[in-house]
Amino acid sequence: MSEKTLAIIKPDAVKKRVIGKIMSRIEDEGFSIHELRMRSLTKEDAEGFYAVHRDKIFFSDLTDFMSSGPIVTMVLERENAIKHWRAVMGATNPAEAAPGTIRRNYGFSIERNATHGSDAPETAAFEIDHFSKK
Ligand code: ATP
Ligand code: MG
Repeated sequence: MSEKTLAIIKPDAVKKRVIGKIMSRIEDEGFSIHELRMRSLTKEDAEGFYAVHRDKIFFSDLTDFMSSGPIVTMVLERENAIKHWRAVMGATNPAEAAPGTIRRNYGFSIERNATHGSDAPETAAFEIDHFSKK
């Protein structure tokens, strides 16, 4: 059954000029791409998007980073999209991500880790809705 997830190419990957390489990988993995858009988040936008992490020690740094430059947001669709996109991205910390994953290839640190992906059907629905409104 087809499923949708929200993917982001984060500011570090945009600055590194690897949008094309990441998009190419997404297509090679069989995802259909919807609602593709480049945008810049304000600090408040980033805080709203990452509200689940509000109490974490890294929240302020994370939202500074996510509002530090343009990002690319998109909805990805395929069978098992949520889990598949997280597998293609690899572990949150690029140093622990498996060879060949996007975070291993293009991530720099646990914060500057190139891409985002929803982690469950409920968060995917929230995140898709969050960006389709603005
Ligand atoms: P994402 O939600 O961005 O796809 P994730 O689901 O793998 O990543 P989360 O636990 O949801 O990881 O953390 C959200 C983001 O917060 C991470 O992608 C990373 O950029 C940042 N982050 C997570 N843990 C840390 C940490 N210990 N220190 C600094 N930043 C962190
Ligand atoms: Mg997450």
